[in-house]
Amino acid sequence: MKIAVFERSGEKYVGQVLENENIIQRFDLTLKDFEFSGVTALIGRDLPLVTEEIPLDEVMLLAPVPRPLRNIFCVGKNYRDHAREFTSSGFDSSANKGTIPKAPIVFSKVPETVIGPGDPIKVDNTVSTEIDYEVELAVIIGKSGRNISREDAASHVWGYTIINDVTARNLQGLHSQWLIGKSQDTFCPMGPWAVTTDEIDLNDTYIRCWVNGELRQDSNTNLLIFDVPEIISAISNGIMLNCGDVIATGTPAGVGIGFKPPKFLKPGDKTRLEIQGIGVLENQVEGY
Ligand code: MG
Repeated sequence: MKIAVFERSGEKYVGQVLENENIIQRFDLTLKDFEFSGVTALIGRDLPLVTEEIPLDEVMLLAPVPRPLRNIFCVGKNYRDHAREFTSSGFDSSANKGTIPKAPIVFSKVPETVIGPGDPIKVDNTVSTEIDYEVELAVIIGKSGRNISREDAASHVWGYTIINDVTARNLQGLHSQWLIGKSQDTFCPMGPWAVTTDEIDLNDTYIRCWVNGELRQDSNTNLLIFDVPEIISAISNGIMLNCGDVIATGTPAGVGIGFKPPKFLKPGDKTRLEIQGIGVLENQVEGY
């Protein structure tokens, strides 16, 4: 199932995308049930769809989890080719520079960074001119758990979506820890919707990013260093993962700093992120 949060005539809804992505039907939910949690409001509820079929092009899609209840967990340097390009870029301030990580590198983005499909990625040139894109598969947790084993991890996943882990590279380097460079306002486009786990085979799913029509990142989730079960096991090690938590699994090679000279985002640029089985997430960069 493809599940979207959307706005129509000033009202917000959660709905199921149907019929070759042309139609959406809303679930019988009221706003207070999903204002922050988005698609995860469906977990544990058996809700009917309202019969009205709405053309998808008549609605505005919003982020599938508009305001996660806490920071988004993110994994860094989780594709081999990207780990190498990041290290050779000179922007890597992490502790184990230059090597493939022995355990997942986990950082976070604050919840207020989340924006939806079509929302502008705002860049403040007085703060940073080294803005980068990162297409990532994001996991949406559907069942809480602590010390989750690799074997049990799949049962804790509700679904997946796409995240653009937008990054101010100079701030990522300046502060050594990545939170500020990763948590600038609007730096987490998410969408276009979420899909349930049956829509994706992570053993063979392409993941791509274009900037202004130029293909920059082109990889496959089967190249993740730490796969989704390993990531869930690692993050839940002593930490209760909650229903509704979002985990971004890392980006493949082809980010802006991977080029010489680097190709940073600037106002007017259009990002197009696609993951097979999920869909396409598009945003445009704007100045303040
Ligand atoms: Mg990232």
